[in-house]
Amino acid sequence: MIMTLTLAGDGVTTMLEAQELTLTLRIQNDARIPTAVLLEAQATVAKIYTQAGVNVAWLDTGAQFTIIMPSRGNARHNDISEQMRRGNAMGYAPGTTSAIGVLAYVLDYNIGELARYYRAKRNIMLGTVIAHEVGHLLFLPRSHSTTGLMRGKWNHVDFQSAQNGALFFTTEQGKLIRIRLGEQ
Ligand SMILES: [Zn+2]
Repeated sequence: MIMTLTLAGDGVTTMLEAQELTLTLRIQNDARIPTAVLLEAQATVAKIYTQAGVNVAWLDTGAQFTIIMPSRGNARHNDISEQMRRGNAMGYAPGTTSAIGVLAYVLDYNIGELARYYRAKRNIMLGTVIAHEVGHLLFLPRSHSTTGLMRGKWNHVDFQSAQNGALFFTTEQGKLIRIRLGEQ
């Protein structure tokens, strides 16, 4: 981001280059989600992180974090517990309370069902869940908050906020994300 700063008094305009923070993500699309769906989901992720002052770049290799979209009942994904598979969890970011992982699982099939139930758009919800799970990879795995994108359970209101492009990180979380990415 280039910011133009006009210094008062001397009439000189100085270009200041603010520190550019970029989050790099890779999607492993095992569920074979159509490209058009993914593109809208990715645009939603970018919008949420832009609001937190961070750019998002999608890479095929060398990304900081990988988002795995398992197909339903895919036995290869042992990290997802049976309960997660059968329940209505939308995503999962493995890790411990002290160690942050680099993988997040996003369960498109559950998101699709819940989006239908709450009358929200699946593509937008998919992106919103990706943003939430990556949030776990940026803070701590079990860090849920009482407001905003990092709430642990979403109800009708959360789905509608997401649908309206109004479900974001809190100001404090945005700050944490920028610190974390600035450290790398
Ligand atoms: Zn969560």
